[in-house]
Order: sequence, then structure tokens, then C-alpha cells
Amino acid sequence: MDHSASALGCRYLFGPVSSRRLGRSLGVDLLPYKTCSLDCVYCECGATTDLTTRIVRHVPTADVLAELDDFLDREPALDFITFAGSGEPTLHADLGELIAHLKRRHARYKVAVLSNGTLFGQAETRAAVRQADLLIPSLDGATTASFQKIDRPAPSIDVAAVIDGLVALRQEYTGTLVLEVFVVPGVNDCEQEVSALRAAALRIKPEAVQLNRLDRPGIFPWVRQASDELLARIQAQLQPLAVFAVKRRSSSKDRRVDDGQARTAILARLADRAFDTTTLAFLLGLPEGLVAEHVSQLLAEGRLARIPPDESATAGLPHRLLVRAVPEVAQMGGR
Ligand code: SF4
Repeated sequence: MDHSASALGCRYLFGPVSSRRLGRSLGVDLLPYKTCSLDCVYCECGATTDLTTRIVRHVPTADVLAELDDFLDREPALDFITFAGSGEPTLHADLGELIAHLKRRHARYKVAVLSNGTLFGQAETRAAVRQADLLIPSLDGATTASFQKIDRPAPSIDVAAVIDGLVALRQEYTGTLVLEVFVVPGVNDCEQEVSALRAAALRIKPEAVQLNRLDRPGIFPWVRQASDELLARIQAQLQPLAVFAVKRRSSSKDRRVDDGQARTAILARLADRAFDTTTLAFLLGLPEGLVAEHVSQLLAEGRLARIPPDESATAGLPHRLLVRAVPEVAQMGGR
């Protein structure tokens, strides 16, 4: 029987929560409220009270490890353990130690890190997240004007250095990297801004770019919700990057998909480009376990093919982007 972190009296764990992107996810919050290197105008946690870039031990790491072991030794069903919460997780000095411990002692679980992406210029921060399975850094603006207006960074943070840090991260990191962009109409949606974002993202080479928008009334009236049309336009402008936009929240009933729908969605996504199962699950908003199951079946049926590592390297794909759809004609010829 699963227990929630709050029922067990955990201080640093929350959930598990059901998330559209990460399935059933156990959250780990390593920062005192609200410690961050940014003060984003759309932050759901409210205003940043400690705007800092200092990487220190914000919470007792031994206590977090004890909570994780106690929770995970019960073998709950989870899709991800996710470092996120009320601040920037890479500001905690022992993030790397925590991830390494999870990979050593609780290897069956996947680890995700939601980050604002500002600290990856430092080699220690890149090393800390090396063992995570999924990294979701943000980049809301690729020009100083939009970055300052939307993200309101700590004074020492410069957007060009943030982008260089993300490029360096990608060169070292072999897991799945999804770049998150929060679209603020009137700030980062014009031709010039989208073109700067595109140029930065093409350098960073994420597996996918996720476009987000305001989902509930924000603190600032000028931060408006991006329309479906605007997201579609930006999505088109960011090609050839794999871009997807988070749709309006649907009811849990709407989100349920049957096996046929899942297989159709997987084949459609893989029709013109390859993805690894983590990215695929993320793009489709389906649990990775379910996607992995269908991918195995579709591989066995010859409807998907693995991309050999040398071919994926030639194509400039960063690591193990393994599956793509086999065209109908090829399938028929093979019979
Ligand atoms: S980076 Fe995340 S936690 Fe920090 S202010 Fe922005 S939205 Fe909030």
C-alpha cells in the first residue's frame, strides 16, 4: 500500500503527485521557501524572498536521505523522483550526492530535475545533475530584455552566460534534456525574440522544447495567458526543433487513453523523427512505463526500428535516441 509523504510526516518530500508530464512523481524540495536565483513573474510559489546564486547546504542532507530511504524502501509505484519545489534545486550543495545515492540504492526509480537553468555555467552544477535521467531547464528569453522582464534574475546572472552554460551541459549530459519556455505575450513572442530563442535552442540541442503558458490568474495583470494560436505560431517558428505546447488542463477522464490510442499516438510522434522513450512519454503526456511497454511491442511487430548508435551520432543526436517508426511501404516489403 502506498503512503503519501505528508502522511509519513516528511519535511522534504511531497506527493506523490500525478503530473501530466512526469506521471506519478515524488517531489523532493531542498530549498527553504523561497530561495531562488530568479524571481519569475509567473512563479506559482510567489515572490522570491532570497534571491541568490550562492550554492550552500540549505537543508540537512542526511535528513533528506533518511526520508528518501524510508519512503522508497516501501517500494511505491512511481514514474519519477523529481527535484523541484519552492526554489532552485541546483542551489543545494549536495544535489549530486542525493542523486548519486538514489541511483545507487534505489536504481529502479528514474530521477528528474526541474531547474531554472541559470547555474550550469559552473562545472560542479553540471556534475551534480549528470546522473539524472531527465533534466528540464528553463529558458524564457534569449535576449537581455525578455530575460530580465520575465525572470528578474539575481544581479550576477547574464543571459548569454546562461545559454553558454546550457550548451556546456548538453555536451556533457547524456540523459534526456527538455528545454522549457514560458511564453508571455508581448514580451517573448515577437519575431526577434522567437528567433533568438530558436538560435539558442539550436545550440543547446535539447531533445524537445516545451512551451508553457499561464494556467491560472497571475500576480501581475500584464502577464497574460498565451492563446493556442500564439503557441502554434511559435511552435512553427521554432522548427526544426521538436516543440510541443502544454494544452489547457483537461479532466482526468479526458486524459485516460486506451492501448489503441497510445499506440497511434506513439507511431504518429515517431513518423518523422526519432525519440527515446523518456522524451516520447514526456511529449505524449503518458507514463513512461506504459510508453516503454508499447514501444517494445511495436518493435517486436516491426512497426518501430531502433536507430543504431553510429547513425544517431551522425545525425547529430546527442545520445540514445533509439526508436523511429518504420514506414508502411517498408513494412509491406519485408513481409
Ligand atoms: S525559477 Fe522557478 S522557483 Fe524560481 S522564481 Fe522562477 S518559477 Fe519560481
